[in-house]
Amino acid sequence: MTTLLQTAIPLAASYIPNDTRTTLMGLSREDLAAILERVGVPEKQRKMRMRQLWHWIYQRGVFDFADMTDVSKELRAKLEDVFVIGRPEVVTEQISSDGTRKWLLRLAPDEKGARHEVETVYIPEEDRGTLCISSQVGCTLTCTFCHTGTQKLVRNLTAGEIVGQIMLARDRIKDWPDDMTANPKPPSSGRYITNVVLMGMGEPLYNFDNVKTAINIAADGEGLSLSKRRITLSTSGVVPEIVRAGTEIGSALAISLHGTTDEIRNKLVPLNKKFPIAELLEACRNYPGVSNAKRITFEYVMLKDVNDTVADAKRLVKLLSGIPAKVNLIPFNPWPGTAYVCSEWDVIETFAEILNNAGYASPVRTPRGRDIMAACGQLKSESMKVRASERV
Ligand code: SAH
Ligand code: SF4
Repeated sequence: MTTLLQTAIPLAASYIPNDTRTTLMGLSREDLAAILERVGVPEKQRKMRMRQLWHWIYQRGVFDFADMTDVSKELRAKLEDVFVIGRPEVVTEQISSDGTRKWLLRLAPDEKGARHEVETVYIPEEDRGTLCISSQVGCTLTCTFCHTGTQKLVRNLTAGEIVGQIMLARDRIKDWPDDMTANPKPPSSGRYITNVVLMGMGEPLYNFDNVKTAINIAADGEGLSLSKRRITLSTSGVVPEIVRAGTEIGSALAISLHGTTDEIRNKLVPLNKKFPIAELLEACRNYPGVSNAKRITFEYVMLKDVNDTVADAKRLVKLLSGIPAKVNLIPFNPWPGTAYVCSEWDVIETFAEILNNAGYASPVRTPRGRDIMAACGQLKSESMKVRASERV
């Protein structure tokens, strides 16, 4: 059963029409330091001011400079003149019968004046809470089983819009330390969102710099303070950026494999024609820091009569040999207009057993939030490229 909680929730502090102030959200340490310099903070104080601002923004979740009680009134006023602490605007919030939440978020106008939309999903589990965030509006790639793939790329998200999804989700599920209504929080970490996966809309490695800045803020001990091991970047296989991601970003890595021969994978993930399986797996072998303690996750969507045979499972075992890997078998999540069908349950079980017997932990991911189209690959927004002549 789906509950459409609210439509068009006005978020007073997040988006103010015609407000031309810049958001402080998602600025790297360097960029924020440059801003502090611009508003006249002496060099000696900059580090301390930065720490204070990050503390209030990312650890306490405040919207308003007035709440930053240890920052001087004078500096607060100067900042408020030019900046806001932004959030995306919630268009709809849906809660699935299994507790999964999905938000359709409207972004602040970009330089062309367009306000695009993306989706973000929160998946609560007993021992963790995972937030699935988007990195692009739409996607340039056209994986044939993916709903997002039917939506053309509209644009990359800024670092602020990527971090903003985590901030907004923390607001909505009351995941800030000061929010007493949210107690008790999971005892292990004291917060609801313990993990972040870049598995929403878009290909994160085609938006490398913004994704890198956003992950650095999310993982910074003075930022959102999530461990990099709990942040997973999922890629469809942009080979030249994989090793670079390991060096420069250092999050956990997931690869959308889905096929065990180039012939099958070419059909499912057309990017495979450019970067075939052998090259992809070579990049995985060279992923910095990969080890048995830090395994690469291989995602494998189970498609009936396409990639789910015993021969596929055996080929998969061979392909992964020598790579510290785990496999996530994802039952295909249908969407309107797709020709694919999810594999039968016993077929998935047989497939998983072959992998498990070969020593690869391969949980079958229980589909979450299917009733609100929040499961893997079901995300899509109505945002479309608008030609200049169509813009108002
Ligand atoms: N672009 C990145 C990240 C977003 S997709 C990537 O492709 O890895 C997140 C995961 O959902 C990917 O593994 C993707 O292949 C998978 N997926 C896409 N459509 C799906 C569907 N309909 N059912 C199940 N999984 C799907
Ligand atoms: Fe893009 Fe990933 Fe969907 Fe492929 S699976 S179309 S890369 S979002």
